[in-house]
This record gives sequence, C-alpha cells and structure tokens, in this order.
Amino acid sequence: MADPCSAAPGPDETIMENQECSAAGGDAEPQGAAASDKPVCLIVLGMAGSGKTTFVQRLTAHLHSLKAPPYVINLDPAVHEVPFPANIDIRDTVNYKEVMKQYGLGPNGGIVTSLNLFATRFDQVMQFIENKQHNHRYVLIDTPGQIEVFTWSASGTIITEALASSFPCVVIYVMDTSRSVSPVTFMSNMLYACSILYKTKLPFIVVMNKTDIIDHSFAVEWMQDFEVFQDALNQETSYVSNLTRSMSLVLDEFYVNLRVVGVSAVTGSGLDKLFEQVEDAAKEYERDYRPEYERLRSQLAEAQNKKQQQQLERLRKDLGAVNITNTPATEEADIAGPSDLIMTRGTPDDVEEEEDSDTDDIDHSATEESKETDAFGNFLKERKEVIQVRNRKSAIPEGP
Ligand code: GDP
Ligand code: MG
Repeated sequence: MADPCSAAPGPDETIMENQECSAAGGDAEPQGAAASDKPVCLIVLGMAGSGKTTFVQRLTAHLHSLKAPPYVINLDPAVHEVPFPANIDIRDTVNYKEVMKQYGLGPNGGIVTSLNLFATRFDQVMQFIENKQHNHRYVLIDTPGQIEVFTWSASGTIITEALASSFPCVVIYVMDTSRSVSPVTFMSNMLYACSILYKTKLPFIVVMNKTDIIDHSFAVEWMQDFEVFQDALNQETSYVSNLTRSMSLVLDEFYVNLRVVGVSAVTGSGLDKLFEQVEDAAKEYERDYRPEYERLRSQLAEAQNKKQQQQLERLRKDLGAVNITNTPATEEADIAGPSDLIMTRGTPDDVEEEEDSDTDDIDHSATEESKETDAFGNFLKERKEVIQVRNRKSAIPEGP
C-alpha cells in the first residue's frame, strides 16, 4: 500500500498495528504530561474537504517536533494516500474496493460497510492503544471524508463509546472557514456542529481551518455579537435568512460555551492555542464525563457485557452467513466471506488475547445501535442475494 509504514497482510484475522510507527512513537517520556496520564483521544470530524486529514498531518508533525509523537489512527477506508505515519490504518484491515465489489455497493455504501466491518474488531484497537498508553500523550483519529459515515452510523458510535469509556476523548470539529463566509452557510455549519455535539456527547472544539485563506475573526464576531450577525444577514434576501435569524437566537446558548480556535492546517498557525483548548477540554472530560462513564460502567458492566458480546457475535454471524462459497465461479467467488476482507498480519507479541474489552462496557443495546446491527446484517445478506441473482443471470446462456 501507499503508506510507507504499512506491511503485508498475514494469516490471522487481527487488526494490524504498524510496528514501525509505534517504534517511532517512541518510548521517550511524552512532553507536558505525567507518564501515568492516559492519552487524550482527539476524534477529528468535519465535512468532506474541510481539511481533517491535512489537520491530522499537521498535528502529527507538530507533536513530533515537540518530541511527543502521537498515536495515529486512520479510519478512512477510501483515502488514496495517508499523508502521515499511521499506527493503525483501516486500509490495512479492510479492503474497501473488495467490499464494494463483493456487496455490489457504490462508494458510500462501501465506506459505511468497511467501517462496520472494522468496528466489529475495535476491541483489538483498544488493546493496542492500552498497551502504548504510557508512550503517547495524544491519540489522533482521522475519520472518513463524509462526516455522516462516522456520526450517523452504528460503527461510529461503537468506536466513539469504546474510546470514551477508557480514555479522555475530545471531538474536534474541523470546518472550512473560507466556505463559511456567507451568514446562511455559516449558520448551517454551526447547526451541524451543534448536532454533532449532541450526537457524540463529548467535550467539543470547533477548529476554524484554512485561516491562511481568510481570517476567522469575522466568524468569531458573528458568534459574540448578535447584532453584527444580524447586519450580515440583512444583506441576504432569501427566505432562509428569516429562519436563520430565529436560529441564531437559539444558537446563542451553544456559542457561549463553545471552544473555537482558528487554525491553518497548511501553515500550522494556531496550534498552540488549539492545544490550550484541548487541555481544557480534557479537563472537562475528567470532570463531567468520566464520572458518567464510570457510573455506566459499574452499573451495567456484567449484564451489558453479555449483551454487547451477543450483539457483536450476531453481527459476526450475519457477516459469516453471507459468505459466497456456493456462488458461480466468478472473480468474487474466490473470496470466502467478509472475514476474508479483513487482511491482517500476525498478532503482535504485546497483545494478550482477552475475552472482554472496554468496548463491552457501554450498553449499546440500550440504544438504536442494536437495531442497526441487525439491520446491517440483513442488509449484507440482501446485497449478497442480489449479487448472486445477478451473477446467475449473467451465467445463463442466451437462447437462440
Ligand atoms: P478532508 O476531506 O476533510 O480530510 O480534507 P483534506 O485534508 O483532504 O483537505 C481538503 C483540501 O483542503 C485539500 O486540497 C487540502 O490541501 C486543503 N486544505 C486543508 N487544510 C487547509 C488549510 O489550512 N489551508 C488551505 N489553504 N487549504 C487547506
Ligand atoms: Mg480525509
């Protein structure tokens, strides 16, 4: 694969950790943190093209220069090239093109399904991070281009909750400042940010990216001064602007407690301020969120562990049930099933095999995700049937 740190897949169905990158991650004492501190997970979300990947690349370079290399995870299965050394790269585990081909999916369906496949093994990722937690102050997580793939999928929730139940987590919402200069566009971007805040239920930072193109001060002013925003709106004549006017009143409360930082992922400006905000957000996690996660953990642990295991087991079974060994001899038939889409190398030495993981601590079954998991299995089955019928039809020779 393009990533210079990636390695060839091996026989075991385990998620691969890039050992080279981990070594680069170093055993050196991370700067600015006691070694016993848990690393802070920064989950980077944002619209396609907002600059998430460039931002993660910039953060990685910045932290390396501070001799505090981060642990980096790429969750975008469709990215052509990962421009940073990733400790874990979803592309080493799930073959996105093969997923598309095998299930007859388009690019979006392929990305969602790949992330679902990866999420069923996220307990292994948790194990990797836990093993390296004393070597890194930050864990950076780059997510798929289209934000909804992560924020509105069962797998996104499973991954987020697994991370947040073990580590301080902060959501970084990257927005393209240069494309938010119209007050109506700005407002819709902020509404989206607000919905992500509600969905993820984690400390939140808005990163106004691309400040090398346009300074973000206009946006900050709009957030701080209602009148200025209204003046900007008066320039607009569209129907939407009336709604926006009312909405801006509602969002005032959202703005008051919001952390906003202007950054350029290209030049690296604004990163010091960003890290101040990250530390503040991590404290917020410890203060307001950790007790909640620990309460959940102690209350629900036993029963929920079982439920979660059953749910994952069902998902795995559903994935297994759609294997296509009986399909006609097509190119796809060479693939035994979804588990074969998981390309892996051997289990790293430092990973102990464990029955339970922190993924189990959260009651996903109490949420809509349990239904989504079933639906995902059914969806895969149906897709497989469609492909099988299609293949059979094309195998029947046409009559005279
Ligand atoms: P993603 O889809 O959110 O991961 O976005 P990318 O990181 O792939 O970036 C999308 C485009 O925006 C690329 O062409 C980047 O070069 C560009 N870009 C990202 N960050 C910045 C920035 O801070 N300034 C400028 N001028 N361009 C940027
Ligand atoms: Mg990207």
